[in-house]
Amino acid sequence: MSLIVVGSMAFDAIETPFGKSDKIVGGAATYIAWCASNFTDVKQISVVGGDFPQEELNALAARNVSLEGVQIKKDEKSFFWSGRYHNDMNSRDTLVTELNVLGTFEPVVPESYQGSEFLMLGNLAPSVQLSVIKQLKQRPKFIAMDTMNFWMDIAMDDLKAVLKEVDILLVNDAEARQLSGEYSLVKAAHVIRNMGPKYLIIKKGEHGALLFQDNNVFFAPALPLEEVFDPTGAGDTFAAGFIAHIAKTKDVSFDNMKTAIIVGSAMASYCVEKFGTQRLREINKTDIEARLKEFVQLSSFDISLV
Ligand code: AMP
Repeated sequence: MSLIVVGSMAFDAIETPFGKSDKIVGGAATYIAWCASNFTDVKQISVVGGDFPQEELNALAARNVSLEGVQIKKDEKSFFWSGRYHNDMNSRDTLVTELNVLGTFEPVVPESYQGSEFLMLGNLAPSVQLSVIKQLKQRPKFIAMDTMNFWMDIAMDDLKAVLKEVDILLVNDAEARQLSGEYSLVKAAHVIRNMGPKYLIIKKGEHGALLFQDNNVFFAPALPLEEVFDPTGAGDTFAAGFIAHIAKTKDVSFDNMKTAIIVGSAMASYCVEKFGTQRLREINKTDIEARLKEFVQLSSFDISLV
């Protein structure tokens, strides 16, 4: 079992109502790799500048994350993103997006990655996501895609082209509305699934997530946490938990996706407990199992219908 991951590896600067970080390591693919490596081998595709810390790359390699597909542009700067969260910690404003190395990124899929059964297209330019799909000699069994409003604003046509190629899209509620032009999430799901993906997950931050397929809908709650420190990367971590569970079990049934969405929610609930990737670096399999049990308790109930 192995999972190819494509996405940004970056520096982030984050402001929340409760604190502020200096430039710390972030990026969609970084969060995905930290999370998914708990469940499966990860084959990373990304690009960084000469300023990206070698220790970070070493730490990922030590977790069985293959970095053969990560280009290092020694004389250039890594992607930089800065965001400020509102008081609700659910919504945020992007303050700065400096593409730097990402602006000219041409991914190259290493030969050793060919034949991987699962592909996670993390948040990145849709043209780059598509290039990776096109380079794979054999279509993966299951392709998941994340994206964001930034790409809807500047590259909608490219984004629609990728949508035709993927099995599942993961977006938040605002992005689902922007992409579909529909306010009702049920209508939005219908419109988006007509664009290509058979499955759709709409994330609603602290209010959980919805999984859509045909006429089936499943709801996964988010764990009510006393303190949310930094929601950055929660979406990536959620996606990573979801696809990594699917990759581990090799089961793409709707029933298994229900479990996968709970795994994603559990991993995301850890992510937000500290700034950046810090919490994800600390947790182990025992922590993950404990949190999954909390989710089972949170949402299971018996009812006798007469
Ligand atoms: P999330 O909070 O899950 O939406 O992901 C936040 C991460 O996405 C941060 O670590 C950023 O570095 C990364 N990010 C933000 N904007 C972009 C973008 N336009 N392209 C790629 N990655 C991005």
